Amino acid sequence: MKNLIDLHSHSHNSVDAKYPTETMINAAIKKGISIYAITDHCEMNRYYSDAHYGVKQSDYEYETFDNAADFEKSMKENTACKLKLREENANLKFLSGIELGQATFDFGLSESLIADKRLDFVIASIHQLKNRDDFAFIKYNKYNDEQLFSLCEEYFEEIKKLCAWGKFDVLGHLTYILRYMEGNAGRTINISLFYQVIRECFKLIIHSGKGIEVNTSGLRQKKFGKTFPDFNILHIYHEMGGEILTIGSDSHTPEDVGAGIPEALEMIKEIGFKWLCYYENREPHFIGV
Ligand SMILES: [Zn+2]
Ligand SMILES: [Zn+2]
Repeated sequence: MKNLIDLHSHSHNSVDAKYPTETMINAAIKKGISIYAITDHCEMNRYYSDAHYGVKQSDYEYETFDNAADFEKSMKENTACKLKLREENANLKFLSGIELGQATFDFGLSESLIADKRLDFVIASIHQLKNRDDFAFIKYNKYNDEQLFSLCEEYFEEIKKLCAWGKFDVLGHLTYILRYMEGNAGRTINISLFYQVIRECFKLIIHSGKGIEVNTSGLRQKKFGKTFPDFNILHIYHEMGGEILTIGSDSHTPEDVGAGIPEALEMIKEIGFKWLCYYENREPHFIGV
């Protein structure tokens, strides 16, 4: 299949993944991927030590502080792999990215961090809301329907703040809260009630020349089985004139590299998108789908 691109993956420089960058890259090569990015986590509410924030390390194993150290390791390893692949004349274009979490918690820090010249690509994501647990750890079954609705409302308002800031390249996995709420806890919500705020987010993104990603990780969840965002929301983005679209598996293991990309490509074509994007040196490049 032509144009197999995967621009969202995690190496052992992300707290929730354990494979070296080179192992992930080798998996991408084996799967015939032509453009591949490692986008390790860097959470803006956990960049410094727990002492800096005046909190204690949480009981959740993935909520570690000092993300600054992981960022540095990721940049070093990505850069070394890039050089090696260039020397080997490899068929794979490898890009050094970041998944910037919760930029809304510290826009100043976010801006100085993503000014790093080693970065090709910046995905901005929201994994957590202020004064709430990471979406992965919320006990959704303790919430009634009204409370779930408010939680989703809060999520989309935070996304809107992120879009108004708009210094990233693409907005990561829009509707991510559903990965846990629906995909894990089995609690569903009528997402069309949020189409208005989603349109407002898209307006901001399109106006500032930014884009969104299609994240295929939801296809791997039995209870969810859709991309983040799904067909209908991508359709709205297309209708509104959104053109910048990247695609990523959000793989944390070599097996998941490239997972769901062919299916998502078919969906994108069906909606009417003509191009996919990848970013190099923070510049978008368009390729036909
Ligand atoms: Zn994420
Ligand atoms: Zn991710």
